[in-house]
Amino acid sequence: MFGLYRPKSLDDALEFLSKNAPEVRPIAGGTELLVLLRDKKIPTPKYLLDLSPLKNQLSYVKVEGEVVKIGATTTLYELSKTFLHKDVRFAGFVDTWRKFGTFAIRFSATIGGNIAAATQYSDYITLLLAYDASVRVISVKGERVIPLEHFIVDKRNIRLQPDELIVEVEFPNPPDRTSSSFIKFDRRELLIAGIVTGACYLSLDGSRIRDVKIAFDMVRDKRIPARLKEVEDFLRNREFSEEIIEKASEEVLPASMKRISDWWTSAEYRLDMSKVSLKRGLLRSKTRIERGVI
Ligand SMILES: Cc1cc2nc3c(=O)[nH]c(=O)nc-3n(C[C@H](O)[C@H](O)[C@H](O)COP(=O)(O)OP(=O)(O)OC[C@H]3O[C@@H](n4cnc5c(N)ncnc54)[C@H](O)[C@@H]3O)c2cc1C
Repeated sequence: MFGLYRPKSLDDALEFLSKNAPEVRPIAGGTELLVLLRDKKIPTPKYLLDLSPLKNQLSYVKVEGEVVKIGATTTLYELSKTFLHKDVRFAGFVDTWRKFGTFAIRFSATIGGNIAAATQYSDYITLLLAYDASVRVISVKGERVIPLEHFIVDKRNIRLQPDELIVEVEFPNPPDRTSSSFIKFDRRELLIAGIVTGACYLSLDGSRIRDVKIAFDMVRDKRIPARLKEVEDFLRNREFSEEIIEKASEEVLPASMKRISDWWTSAEYRLDMSKVSLKRGLLRSKTRIERGVI
C-alpha cells in the first residue's frame, strides 16, 4: 500500500517531494500510473503525490509574448476547449485529441502525465516535438527548461530528478500561414496504440516551405518518438510541390529512419506506412493553411 499526499499549494508539493523523494510518485490523471501499479510493472512507492489540488495553479493554456504555454495538469478535455482547437495553426491538436484513447480517458489524462509517461504511445510527445516544445520543471532548488527532444531519454526514462515536477510545456507561437497534422494509423479506428504515428508542422511563405518539423514514433532503435531532421532539412526553403513531397517520403525518409519489427507489425510495413503518413500529413497541413479550416 501507499500513502496519498494532497498538497495545499505548489510550494507545499515541492517541499513534500524534497523531503520524501525518491519514495514519492506524482499522480495527475492516473490513467497511466494506476495501470502500471495495478499490473506491478513498477515498484509501489511509499507515497503518491496527488497533483489535482494544484489545478488552479497548473491547468491553463495561454500565450505570453511569443510563447504558447500549457500547464502540466491541463487535461485533454480542458485543452479541447481552448484556442488550440479553434486556430488552424494548431490543427494537429485536434487530430491528436480525436485519436486519443476514449472520451473517458480524455477527461482525466493530462499533458504533463503524457510527457512523463514517455512511451512511443505518448501521442502529445510526437505532436509537441513537431512544435519544438520545451518542458519547464521545478523543485525547491529552482527551475529548468529543457527541450522536449532532450527531456525524453528512452522509454519511461526522462530527465527529471526525483524531487522535480513538470509544471509547463511551452513552444514558439507559430506565424501566420502555418498549420500541422497528426496521423495515427492502426488496423482499427478506436482505442488504438498506433502502428505508425507521425506529426507534421508546416509553415509557408507563398508556396515556399518557410519551416517544417516532422516527428514520428520509434524513429530509431529507441521506443520513443523523435524528429526526422534529415527530411526537414531536405524540405526547408523549397517550393512545396507533389514531386518534392514524393522525394522526401520515398527517398529521404527511408535513409533517416530505422523501423523495427515487433508484435504489432513488420519493419517493412511500418516504413511503408510512414511514407504514406508523411505525404498525407504534409498535404493535409498545406490544405489547412490554404483553406483555413481544420
Ligand atoms: C484505455 C487507455 C487508452 C490510452 N490511450 C492513449 C492514447 O491514445 N494516446 C496516448 O498518448 N496515451 C494513451 N494512454 C496513456 C495515458 O492515458 C496517457 O499517457 C496520459 O496522458 C497520462 O496522463 P495522466 O495525467 O493520466 O498521467 P498519470 O497516469 O497520472 O501519470 C503518468 C506518469 O507521469 C508522472 N507524472 C504525471 N504528472 C506529472 C508531473 N506534472 N510532473 C512529473 N511527473 C508527472 C507520473 O508519476 C507517472 O509516472 C491510454 C491509457 C489508457 C488506460
